[in-house]
Amino acid sequence: MEAKNQKNLDVKFEILHLPPQNTNSVLVSRGSDCVIFDPWGRAADWERILSERGLKLRAIYATHGHPDHTSAAPELAETFDIDWFLNANDNFLIGNANDFLDMFGLPHILDGYKKSVDISKGVVEILPDVSMEIIESPGHTPGGVMFYFPKYKILLIGDTLFQDSYGRTDFPGGDERQLFESIRNLYDMNLDDETYVVHGHGMETTIGWLKQNNPFFTK
Ligand SMILES: [Zn+2]
Repeated sequence: MEAKNQKNLDVKFEILHLPPQNTNSVLVSRGSDCVIFDPWGRAADWERILSERGLKLRAIYATHGHPDHTSAAPELAETFDIDWFLNANDNFLIGNANDFLDMFGLPHILDGYKKSVDISKGVVEILPDVSMEIIESPGHTPGGVMFYFPKYKILLIGDTLFQDSYGRTDFPGGDERQLFESIRNLYDMNLDDETYVVHGHGMETTIGWLKQNNPFFTK
């Protein structure tokens, strides 16, 4: 009975811009369960949104370890006693970002913060019957990944590629050669042109749009 109801629940993908507005965070929910991708901003603001909507947070995923994609993750994971997932190659970026957080007036990640759980390529069921493929995408950071939802044709591309540019590689661990290899690998996946692409920052696009308009999205 419950399983049947569960199957009939709609899956919602929402892009949220938490203050101080900077990053495209994504909230995926089904019924009262949800997961957050790239939880920028303050944990307290996320907690308010979740409680207003009556949502239970089940897990957190980050495309990469930069603070504008992870600032609320350790605290939320601690508060709700859930896992937060990040490729282990980016662990060195967490807890090293206080100068950046200061610029936005955000609280520091405290010493002894809740550590992430490693993810690499594979398929993960994030909510009942909602699966995503993890695509390794190093370059902007060593542990960058993308999240692809084949059933919904949605790609969370992180900071690998933007509407008309690509992710910076001048931060610690960045590697331009690797970034372009990641972009080529994505191109070679031949995702449908209609695939909806959510970038870490800026406007959403589609794979078809990127092929036509982003000079860096090429073989
Ligand atoms: Zn970044």
